[in-house]
Amino acid sequence: MIHSGPAITVQMLDDGIAEFKFDLQNESVNKFNRVTLDDLDAAVQAVKAHPEIRGLLVTSGKNFFIVGADITEFGGVFSHGRDYIQDWTMDIHRIFNAFEDLDIPKVVAINGFALGGGFEMCLANDYRVMSDKAQVGLPELTLGLIPGFGGIIRLARVIGVAKAIEWISSTRPRKAADALADGAVDEVAEHDKLRDTALAALKRAIAGEIDWQAKRALKLQAVEVPGGAADSYFEGVRAELAKTTNPEQYPASKAFLDVIEKSADMARDQAVAVEAEHFAGVAVTPQADALIGLFLADQVIKRAAKKNAAAAREVKKAAVLGAGIMGGGIAYQAATKGTAVIMKDIGQAQLDLGMNEAEKQLARQLQRGRISEDKKNATLKLIEPSLSYDGFNAVDIVIEAVTENIKVKEIVLKEAENALREDAILASNTSTISITELAKGLQRPANFVGMHFFNPVPVMPLVEVIRGEQSSDEAIATAVALALSMGKSPIVVQDCPGFLVNRVLFPYFGAFDRLIKDGACLIKIDQVMEDFGWPMGPAYLSDVIGLDTCVHASKVLADGFPDRMKTDYTGATEALFKTDRLGQKNGKGFYKYVADDSGRKRKTADDEVKDILAPHVDAAAPGSVDFTAEEIRDRLMLAMCNEVARCIDEKIVASPEEADMALIMGLGFPRFRGGALRYIDQIGLKEYVALCDRYAHLGKAYEAPQILREMAAKGERFFN
Ligand code: NAD
Repeated sequence: MIHSGPAITVQMLDDGIAEFKFDLQNESVNKFNRVTLDDLDAAVQAVKAHPEIRGLLVTSGKNFFIVGADITEFGGVFSHGRDYIQDWTMDIHRIFNAFEDLDIPKVVAINGFALGGGFEMCLANDYRVMSDKAQVGLPELTLGLIPGFGGIIRLARVIGVAKAIEWISSTRPRKAADALADGAVDEVAEHDKLRDTALAALKRAIAGEIDWQAKRALKLQAVEVPGGAADSYFEGVRAELAKTTNPEQYPASKAFLDVIEKSADMARDQAVAVEAEHFAGVAVTPQADALIGLFLADQVIKRAAKKNAAAAREVKKAAVLGAGIMGGGIAYQAATKGTAVIMKDIGQAQLDLGMNEAEKQLARQLQRGRISEDKKNATLKLIEPSLSYDGFNAVDIVIEAVTENIKVKEIVLKEAENALREDAILASNTSTISITELAKGLQRPANFVGMHFFNPVPVMPLVEVIRGEQSSDEAIATAVALALSMGKSPIVVQDCPGFLVNRVLFPYFGAFDRLIKDGACLIKIDQVMEDFGWPMGPAYLSDVIGLDTCVHASKVLADGFPDRMKTDYTGATEALFKTDRLGQKNGKGFYKYVADDSGRKRKTADDEVKDILAPHVDAAAPGSVDFTAEEIRDRLMLAMCNEVARCIDEKIVASPEEADMALIMGLGFPRFRGGALRYIDQIGLKEYVALCDRYAHLGKAYEAPQILREMAAKGERFFN
């Protein structure tokens, strides 16, 4: 044995070939943590000390090759600041360069996922052989980072600048055939022949039949920029990328391009220094902090869901009550994931609509080549439209998604309970009505939970699973497991008006109404909040949800939390609703929706709105007061963030990670900000509380809750 470390072993095979195997001890996957990096350093030195080695076969002892850098270690490194990070990165370059510079051919056998640092290690080899089951890529931008182990420099030199830009900006892992076509790997092998193929390539390299020196030399020198004129080329690329990603919001999307541009005419050692400088620059941004936080939060919610689903009963068959927007969507989603489902409504026309919608969605999937004709037909067969409760004694769970009316729901839930087996679970998709309240009319309240899906169901990942006062662990577990099997991300929350997501959304809408009342311009408010990163501003969002739904839900919340959600005036949303403006659904709300040439309804400012709002505004006219962007942002965000903090305090949601992920997935909270609690952390608790004090005169919604005052006093944060 030439080297035997905690992450790497180097062992002589025949013919002067040594196997350099990544196999991190006590871990299920290989990753570049500190242990692996130090061991790589040591293993390279060991190889150098053995001149009898004529070539290296680089392999993995795990199912994946190397999944990337250990993201849990980033916090510790990044907290030391930019200079430290740059030195840290330069030290990794020293190790990777020393590996690359070993005076023998190195052939890597990529047996599974090689992502981020894992793929950067592949690029430091001279020849890459990839299993037809593996995937490679550089997803660093999703974390607000750029590749930092030489990946930008080497990929641009291996596959060319234009393709490297495409690979890095898309963040998408590539399958073997695509990686081969782009020249990122040299050969693809059937999975079980990978090792033999890589070994044969190494022998050919040793024999001089593969010009590995030339392949390596390419990575050590300058790279050509398409068209030759770097300035105009990069300017064009920047403009193109900015169409889909705002570089102010995602600085890494610009930084990696800067690296390619600045280092294009440099040799490797100089070029990696440019990469290190820019890596350190993005690593200290709040966006990287937020996006890395989300990656880690995603793991927290996955672990929590797994734990919450532990006591689940098996669901062989489900049923949905209501074939409307939500019921139809839920039935479709369950069926696409293989669960048979009865879809019951009170009218044939509604059932036909629900089935047609499912058929349309599946036809679209078929057209896009995502599913086969057989899969389409099989999925449709799994949905059984019904006008009666026949067959309900065979279902394991029912999700009620009928009209949002407590009287209707009470009747329907009772009927369903009578038709069900005693052990079956009953869930309601209500968006506002208390689960504990709905359970009161039921004989088996322990079997009853909330399952709050979001619209459109096939697209929105979040499901709030709501625990009523009497909901059993088994009922919660079954709902969580069903949501997981439907490909969703369930988060368990305690029962309260609006649950988590709507409870924190409505103070934000309340702050919007209040701004309008104080004379702010609704178009400016939307613009400011879209610049903040929301996919749409509050006026537009209200129109999309429907002003009727907004008014109805805001009343439920005002009843639940009168101290901060009840008003003694008619807000803009209600004022418009009272004139039959319902939003997008009837073509007029805060905006009017007019069909353009292609027939698509476009939002347009509507002068009529000003007239309707005039009696409800305390200023000379609606929109006549010029609020600063900061004031608009702060008034809206404080109202929302304070409510999220209250939900943590009241344990409506179990952890800050789950709270922030729920807002990201359920509301479209800007990802690069990481969520409401991360936003408070980034402002700083003390500064945030001071900001609340400035707006406290507007009402309780803006006052800092006690939990934040206490955290500020103790110097605490939500995330460390
Ligand atoms: P919808 O009006 O589109 O559909 C309701 C369906 O229920 C209709 O097809 C109606 O015929 C049917 N129905 C009425 N009484 C029935 C009964 N006794 N038995 C069987 N079916 C009956 O409404 P929707 O938007 O799908 O909302 C359904 C539920 O989902 C509501 O509780 C709503 O609050 C909730 N929700 C809606 C959204 C959304 O964005 N639309 C989002 C989350 C939750």
